[in-house]
Amino acid sequence: MTEPTVTPMMAQYLAIREANPGALLFYRMGDFYEMFFEDAVAASAALDIALTKRGKHLDQDIPMCGVPVFAAEGYLLTLIRKGFRVAIAEQMEDPAEAKKRGSKSVVKRDVVRLVTPGTLTEDSLLEARRNNFLAAWGEVRDEGALAWVDISTGEIRVMPCPLVRLGAELARLAPRELLVGEMREADCRPVTEDMRVALTVVPRAGFDSQGAEKRLLDLYGIGSLDAFGGFSRAEVSALGAIVDYLDLTQRGKLPLLRRPVREEAGALMQIDAATRRNLELTQALSGGREGSLLSVIDRTVTAGGARLLERRISAPSRDLAQIRARHDAVRFLLEQSRFCEDLRADLKRAPDMDRALGRLALDRGGPRDMVSIRAALTQAGHIAGRLPPDAPALLTEAARALTGHEDLVALLDAALVAEPPLLARDGGFIAAGYDAELDRTRQLRDEGRGVIAGMQAQYIGDTGISSLKIKHNNVLGYFIETTATHAERMLAPPLSERFIHRQTTANQVRFTTLELSELETRILNAGAHALEIEKRLYDSLKSAILAHAGPIGEAARALAEIDLATAFADLAAGEDWVEPLIDESRAFEVEGGRHPVVEASLKRRGESFIANDCGLTSGTTPAIWLLTGPNMAGKSTFLRQNALIALLAQAGSFVPARRAHIGLVSQLFSRVGAADDLARGRSTFMVEMVETAAILNQADDRALVILDEIGRGTATYDGLSIAWAVLEHLHGANRCRALFATHYHEMTALARKLDGVENATVSVKEWEGEVIFLHEVRKGAADRSYGVQVAQLAGLPASVVSRARIVLDALETGDREGGSKKQMVIDDLPLFSVAKPATAPAAPSKVEERLRTLHPDEMTPKQAMEALYELRGLL
Ligand code: ADP
Repeated sequence: MTEPTVTPMMAQYLAIREANPGALLFYRMGDFYEMFFEDAVAASAALDIALTKRGKHLDQDIPMCGVPVFAAEGYLLTLIRKGFRVAIAEQMEDPAEAKKRGSKSVVKRDVVRLVTPGTLTEDSLLEARRNNFLAAWGEVRDEGALAWVDISTGEIRVMPCPLVRLGAELARLAPRELLVGEMREADCRPVTEDMRVALTVVPRAGFDSQGAEKRLLDLYGIGSLDAFGGFSRAEVSALGAIVDYLDLTQRGKLPLLRRPVREEAGALMQIDAATRRNLELTQALSGGREGSLLSVIDRTVTAGGARLLERRISAPSRDLAQIRARHDAVRFLLEQSRFCEDLRADLKRAPDMDRALGRLALDRGGPRDMVSIRAALTQAGHIAGRLPPDAPALLTEAARALTGHEDLVALLDAALVAEPPLLARDGGFIAAGYDAELDRTRQLRDEGRGVIAGMQAQYIGDTGISSLKIKHNNVLGYFIETTATHAERMLAPPLSERFIHRQTTANQVRFTTLELSELETRILNAGAHALEIEKRLYDSLKSAILAHAGPIGEAARALAEIDLATAFADLAAGEDWVEPLIDESRAFEVEGGRHPVVEASLKRRGESFIANDCGLTSGTTPAIWLLTGPNMAGKSTFLRQNALIALLAQAGSFVPARRAHIGLVSQLFSRVGAADDLARGRSTFMVEMVETAAILNQADDRALVILDEIGRGTATYDGLSIAWAVLEHLHGANRCRALFATHYHEMTALARKLDGVENATVSVKEWEGEVIFLHEVRKGAADRSYGVQVAQLAGLPASVVSRARIVLDALETGDREGGSKKQMVIDDLPLFSVAKPATAPAAPSKVEERLRTLHPDEMTPKQAMEALYELRGLL
C-alpha cells in the first residue's frame, strides 16, 4: 500500500496554517478566499455559507468553504464580530511565474495581514462615528499602565493604571481588543468578559520594557523617550506591546502613529463602569446607542466630531480653564448663529480625513482617500477664512491648524479628477493636464484609431496610392494593405526601403513600417503604460500626503473640535440650554433642570417635562439631599438629570436647565438598588453592595454621588439599615455632594440630625383615591408612599387593592398609637443612633468601624457576602 501523498498546495496551506495559530486562514485562490478543515467548518457555520469538499488529505475528504474576494469585507466583519481573528494569505506572485518553474510548482503565498477586532481600518468595517481602540495593559514590578491606539487615526495614548482601575478605564474607552501578557491572563479575563472586550494574550516578550523601549525609539526615530516627556517602565511596556502587535498583525506595515500622549487621570472626571452603564452615557441599558445620552445630544456633522463627542462625554474634564474655554466657544457660536450655520455647512462637506490618512499610511487607501483629504483641507481653509479675529481662543487656535495646507491642496487639485474610482489599480483618477507623459499615453490609447487614420492619409500622400489602407487583424496586428496591382511600386526602391513586406494574399499585399509597428506597440502598451504612470503618480502623491501627515492630523483634530463646539451651540439653541457657571466652589445649584433623554422621549409623545431645582446646601460639604416619594414619581429621573448636568457641563456643553452653578466635580458615582442584573450572572444584591462599597471607599469630597434606592434588594430592615449606614458614611467620611433616593421614610429623620442632609420629595396629588404624579421636587419629606395607589394604577385587581387599603389603614393606626414606643425602639438600635455632624464626631458604631476597614475592591464576591453577614451580626 502506498503512503497517501500530500499535494504541494496542501503542504503550503498546512505550513501557513501552522505559522498562524489562533486565526482562521483566508487562503487566496484566484478570485476566492478559501478555508479548509476546521476553519471551513467554523467559518461556514458563522457565515451561514455552504460547506463543501475539495480533494483528499491523508485519504480523508477536505472540508472547504470560500468567499469571493470582492465581497470579502462583509464576511470579515461578520467573523470579527463573532469573535474570530482572520489571517489573510495572498498570492505573492503571478500564477504564470509559478508555472514557469514547473507544472508541480505552487503559487507563492503568504499572510499579509492578521485581522483582529482592534486593528481594523476599512471604512466598511468601522463605525464612522466611533473610535476603534486597541488597548494593552502592562505591568512592571507593581506598577500597571494602559496604552491604547486607534490605528485608523493613529492616536496613541497611555496612562498609569493599576489592575483595580482596569475595568473603569475599559468602560470609558470601550476598546475592541485588549492585549495582556500571558502571566496576567487570569486576572484580566473576568474584566474583559464583563466589558465585552476581546482579550488577546501575547507572549511575555511583547511586554518586555527594554525591548519595548527600543521598538519605540526605532519607530519614532528618536534617541530617547524623554523627547516625549518621559514614561514609566510600565507605560513603555504597554506602548511597546501595542507596537509589537501592530507589527505582527500588519506584517511590518506599521500604521501612522502619532507621538504617544500621556493622559493624566487627575485631569478628567472619574466615572466608573457601573456609573456609565447606569447613566446610559453612550449606550442605553438595553444595549444599543438608541436611548443613550449620546444619541440625544449628538448634533455633530462630521465623523471626527462625533468621535470627539463620545470621548468628551466618556471623560469630561476637570480642568477649569479648559472647560471655560470650551464654554466660551459655544457661547460665541450661539450668539453668532448665522456664522455657526455657515460653519456647519462647511463642516458637512469635510470628509473623514483622519481615517483616509490612516488607510493611505497602511497602503490600504485609494484615490478616494486622497480626494477626501483634498476636500477636507479645502473646507478647512474656508472655515479658517470665516473666523473673525475676535473669536474665542479655542476657535482661533483651532483655526491655526486649518491653514498652511494650500500647497498640498493645490497639488491634489491639479492632480486628481473630481470623482475618482475606488481603486488605484483601475486608473483614471489623475486629472488631464497634470502629467504630460500620461496625457500623451492616454491620447494614444484613446485616440489610437485617429492616429492610425492620420498615418494612413500620410502614406497615401507619400505613395500616391489612394486605395492604400491601414487595417488590423489578430494575426498581423496593424498592417498596410494595397491591391496587388499597386504593390509592385511598393516592393521596389525607394518605397521598399520604408515599406516592409509582410504577406501576400490572392489579391492583396500587406506591408508594415517601422513607424507603424512602433505605433502599434505603443497603442497596445498605452493602456498598461497609462496605468503604470498613474500608479507612479499615485505613489508620489501618497508620499506628498504622508510627508504632511502631522499637519493633516492637526487639521482633522481642529475640525472635530470646531464641529463639536458648533454642535453644542446648535443643541443649546434648539433645546434651550444654558451656560453653566463652573468654579472651584462646592456649589451644586440647578434651577429648572431637565433630563435630556426623558424629555426627548416625552416630547415624542407630546408630553412635557417638569423642570426641577436642586440646591445642595449652599456650597458646604457634605451636602446631601434625601429624596423620598412614591415609585414612579420621578425620583430616578431627578437624580440622573443632576448627574448628567454636571457631566455635560464639564464635557464642555451647555446644560438643560434655566440656570446652573456647579463647583468642579472630581468623580461621578451613580448606583441603583437591585437593578435586574441576572444576565451578568451575579446576585443582584451582591452587585449592589459591591458597587456601593466602591463608592464609600473611593469618593472624595469633590465627588458627586447619586444613590437610587440602595438597599432595596434585600429584606426591609436589612435594606433600611444598610441605606442608613451608607448615608451616614457619605456624610461623615466621604463628605461629598450626594442625592439619595429612598422609599424608607424612616430615613427622613436623619435630616434633623445631620447638618448636611436635607429632605426633599417628589410631589403627588391624591384625587378621588387616585394618585396623580406631579413630578415636582420640593423640599420636605414625603408624607406617605402611595404604594397602594400605584398598585392600582398598575392594574392590580380591585379586590387586592381594596384589601391592601384595609391592611394599610390597620398598620398606620397601629403606628400612630404605638408611635412613641416604636420610635424608642428604633432609637435604641445601635445602627439608628445617628452620628453627629463631623464638627463634633460621635464615637463610630461598631458597624461603621468595621465598614471602614473593608476594602471591597480587593474582596471576592464570597468575601463580600461574608463581610455583609458579619456586619449584620454586629447590629
Ligand atoms: P421613580 O424613580 O420615582 O420610580 P422615575 O424617575 O423612574 O420614577 O420616573 C417615572 C416616569 O415618570 C418616567 O419614566 C417619566 O416618564 C416620568 N417623569 C419623571 N420625571 C418627570 C418630570 N420631571 N417631568 C415629566 N415626567 C417625568
